[in-house]
Amino acid sequence: MKYLSTRGHAGRPEFCDILLGGLAPDGGLYLPESYPQVSRAELDAWRTLSYAELAYAILSKFITDIPPADLKAICDKTYTAAVYCHARAGDDTAEITPVHWLEEGRLGLLELSNGPTLAFKDMAMQLLGNLFEYVLDKHGQSINILGATSGDTGSAAEYAMRGKHGVRVFMLSPHGKMSAFQRAQMYSLQDDNIYNIAVTGMFDDAQDIVKAVSNDAAFKAQHKIGAVNSINWARVAAQIVYYFKGYFAATESNDQQVAFCVPSGNFGNICAGHIARMMGLPVAKLILATNENDVLDEFFRSGVYRPRKAAETHVTSSPSMDISKASNFERFVFDLVGRDPQKVAALWAEVDAGRPFDLSASADFARIGDFGFVSGASSHADRLATIRKVFEKYGVMIDTHTADGVKVAWECAAEVPAGVPVLVLETALPVKFAETIREALGREPERPADLEGIEKLPQRVEVMAPDVDAVKRFIVERVG
Ligand SMILES: *Cc1c(COP(=O)(O)O)cnc(C)c1O
Repeated sequence: MKYLSTRGHAGRPEFCDILLGGLAPDGGLYLPESYPQVSRAELDAWRTLSYAELAYAILSKFITDIPPADLKAICDKTYTAAVYCHARAGDDTAEITPVHWLEEGRLGLLELSNGPTLAFKDMAMQLLGNLFEYVLDKHGQSINILGATSGDTGSAAEYAMRGKHGVRVFMLSPHGKMSAFQRAQMYSLQDDNIYNIAVTGMFDDAQDIVKAVSNDAAFKAQHKIGAVNSINWARVAAQIVYYFKGYFAATESNDQQVAFCVPSGNFGNICAGHIARMMGLPVAKLILATNENDVLDEFFRSGVYRPRKAAETHVTSSPSMDISKASNFERFVFDLVGRDPQKVAALWAEVDAGRPFDLSASADFARIGDFGFVSGASSHADRLATIRKVFEKYGVMIDTHTADGVKVAWECAAEVPAGVPVLVLETALPVKFAETIREALGREPERPADLEGIEKLPQRVEVMAPDVDAVKRFIVERVG
């Protein structure tokens, strides 16, 4: 499988060539030259596979430059009950991404958050950790991952990369701004290759430092600085698997359809759903849910994509969806405009200059219905009401992001064909967002048994002023 850039750069790299990098040289995002098509016979054969087997079946279509036996071993090592079932623990034979029906056969939660950091990002990030180690070992190389986090991404990256050969992680977080639980999750890691840096400032200050270091091409090359952000193609590819798995769990035969509702921020998760559908998975609708940061909902309703300024970006109680622009959205637009890289380059010339683009009058947007998207937005009040209603009606506690999904799924029910089950992707567990759970339900969120008392563990974190040179010095001293 060869890859191309959404903006036309034609190096024709393969999977391992783009694994450790980010953007294509022309600033575009990588996609496969064509989406592999899944035949009916394959779907029938895949229905009964375990998660690890299904991951191999799907990923081997996108990854053709790792020997099959090695890729199989990586999938088997990654997708185990020990890693993915600890949150709702007990049963080692448990499914890795079970469907939890709220209404049998009609509305369910696709559980993606039972992994080590209790958010769906573990589904892809754990695979990334094993792929990185494999490729680096093979070439005798190493990488120093630098990132900034306000919670979910940083912890998922650290738990995926801890103890991996050839990988060090330097993760910046805003000092005192994360919840006690999130701090404990990250800072209690004692692995030699994980460095937590708490910056005395806001998330944006941490993010600016990462950008400044990454823009220093000489420093970046000399110290092998890399990233694991949401545009990484391997993360998107890994996420395709649970759309298939969820489909098989929610249906009895491959004649049926499902709809997925996806709490969305950077469009990474739902982009994987779009690709699953393009491969031939019978998906009736992809329902995109945003919070108050509704740049994507606005696009699907109007055809206008209007990235927000930092000052227009709301700080919400579903913080992992607080985005000003959606970094993976360019991948979908590439397909929407008939895979024309010139069109994409022209549209993103506007976006990169901070201006909106408007496709409302275009023939491309007229065909948007073919892609199955519907969308909606949710507010803090909606979130509280939905958490309450789901708890009272079904006895299930959901987190704030999943609540945005359930709210929008209810609202869009009329757009889903009769008899088609709707699966809302459960993107995190409520314990990560305790404050809002207390506000909604007047009680503490449930906590997986092995995370009791995590706040009392010794923590390892370096507190630093938001100073680019100090962070560079810190890295150089550790990397040598
Ligand atoms: C990252 C995240 C999202 C948004 O996912 P995207 O791939 O950025 O659309 C939603 N919910 C939670 C809990 C997350 O961590």
